[in-house]
Amino acid sequence: MSSTQHDSAQQWTERYTHAVMNTFGPPQTVLVRGEGCYVWDADGKRYLDLLAGIAVNALGHAHPALVEAVSTQMSTLGHVSNFFATEPQVGLAEKLLELVGQQGRVFFANSGAEANEAALKATRRTGRTKIVATHGSFHGRTMGSLALTSKEAYRAPFEPLPGDVLWAPYGDAEALEAIVDDTVAAVVIEPIQGEAGVIVPPDDYLAKVREITQRHGALMWIDEVQSGMGRVGEWFAYSASGVVPDLLTLAKGLGGGVPIGACIGIDEAAMLLQPGNHGTTFGGNPVATAAALAVIDTIERDELLAHVVEIGQRFRDGLGDHPRVTDITGRGLFLGVVLSDPVAAEVMKAALPAGLIVNAPTPDRLRIVPPLILTADQADDAVAILRELLDTVPAAPAGTSS
Ligand SMILES: *Cc1c(COP(=O)(O)O)cnc(C)c1O
Repeated sequence: MSSTQHDSAQQWTERYTHAVMNTFGPPQTVLVRGEGCYVWDADGKRYLDLLAGIAVNALGHAHPALVEAVSTQMSTLGHVSNFFATEPQVGLAEKLLELVGQQGRVFFANSGAEANEAALKATRRTGRTKIVATHGSFHGRTMGSLALTSKEAYRAPFEPLPGDVLWAPYGDAEALEAIVDDTVAAVVIEPIQGEAGVIVPPDDYLAKVREITQRHGALMWIDEVQSGMGRVGEWFAYSASGVVPDLLTLAKGLGGGVPIGACIGIDEAAMLLQPGNHGTTFGGNPVATAAALAVIDTIERDELLAHVVEIGQRFRDGLGDHPRVTDITGRGLFLGVVLSDPVAAEVMKAALPAGLIVNAPTPDRLRIVPPLILTADQADDAVAILRELLDTVPAAPAGTSS
């Protein structure tokens, strides 16, 4: 039993079911290695990775810059505590504020949910408790971030959840206007909803949310955990809107696969959390912050923002005219492929034996969130496989719908 090196993917999956808590359902396969935009399973099969650990592996797998940064930092100073500061922690906070282009302060956490938890606690320091969240939202699975997440199946088993949460339809500024008053602490918005299937709001939505929140003295909190750090071809998905939020949360792509989250308080919101109000043992860890600095440095040095726009367009051009594709939503390499029938899960399953990892967040949508370093040739390969799958996956049985 202890000689495990040569177990097959199926044997590892069997062992998984006996040892790992069953919160995620059965794994699709067992991965052992990655390089660039490819991963390999325990049977030696190679996959082109259009999921990237759910929009996490911005530089793909085993990127030399990330390996070097993490190895060097780990062999220099791997962890301290927040009784001490470290150089990469300070450097990353300064760099993030530079990318945001505003005065502010950063709180480092270890995940998206924790970044949001910090932001939620910051909103309580306004003296108000009401938060407006949107239908279709996903902000994480801790009790606080779950309270702002709309999906009933995620929420129901854990109620009562904390807080005074009000719900507004996503993308609808008029509806928001009717809900926000002078007792609301904050409105929390994903600039593009990821888990809901890559849903893009109207162009002027964020500007209107900013105007409404400003008028009522409420904070505008933008959750860029999935959309941020270059995924849309700009540093943040809200950048194009011209708004300045009060709170901005980041995670997923930030560390390129090393767990890290960040809650950025801008201007006055930077001072909401005061000594003793919040904390974390690992948050801002030197290895994680060194990793994030390497990710940002590589995106800048290799001009990946422009590359992301170009490769995203290649997917649009390659898939947009397929008869089973009714729309392609999103920006850059944060794309939703909307299908004419609810076969996204079937396409996802059939993609695996075809050597492609792609995700199906809803019954009729595929999500494409590959490493930002995906090459034009790799995008073309992925498009060819997806077209073949869309040609061959049987239609959903009558009566089913998304
Ligand atoms: C994934 C996600 C989260 C939660 O991040 P975790 O690291 O899984 O806790 C929060 N907000 C958004 C928009 C996300 O996509």
